[in-house]
Amino acid sequence: MNRQGDLFGPPAGGDAPSATLEQLHGKIRGCTRCAELVRSRRQAVPGVGPQRARVMFIGEGPGRWEDEKGEPFVGDAGAYLTELLEQIGLKRSEVFITNVIKCRPPENRAPKPDEIENCRPYLLRQIEFLQPDLIVLLGRFALEEFFPKEKITQAKGKVRPLTVGGRAIRALPLLHPAFGVRRQDLKPEIERDFWMIRDLLAESKA
Ligand code: URA
Repeated sequence: MNRQGDLFGPPAGGDAPSATLEQLHGKIRGCTRCAELVRSRRQAVPGVGPQRARVMFIGEGPGRWEDEKGEPFVGDAGAYLTELLEQIGLKRSEVFITNVIKCRPPENRAPKPDEIENCRPYLLRQIEFLQPDLIVLLGRFALEEFFPKEKITQAKGKVRPLTVGGRAIRALPLLHPAFGVRRQDLKPEIERDFWMIRDLLAESKA
């Protein structure tokens, strides 16, 4: 992948590209590229939400509850994400939610570089299917996927252009909702920054 220009790389696994988002998610569920994650996961967690979603959220990776339910952001951070969406007048059911890596790392450790690399084509293909108006990068790992070496504390709240599959998309890095769960004092900042999503969606509709 050329991270400076167009981010769209070859199809995942080097085989025929998936014809539909459903098919891609089936491929993700059957993926065996990361031996350690395949052993430790209960199931892969491709993502959830309508293909016509205008906004796509990208987190880090599934945790215990996500691994159990097969859906991203269903634990404490997920409950807070749902609350944040409601605060800005969005329903969870109208956005698309996924993660940089689709399988839970053992003991919730951070994703390893080779795992991120293995999963990248899936994420890029999801973006190509969805063609969202806006991609919200939740936290460090989602930021680094597109803007390596940048710090989330500096990048957060600043809209960035991205090109995926030849299409220009705006990206908005924000603090991960898990920060707000762990640190109540960060909630006002997280909640204030979240309003940018509403403003950006209103702009792209106009
Ligand atoms: N749950 C997810 O699905 N992703 C995260 O990054 C955190 C919690």
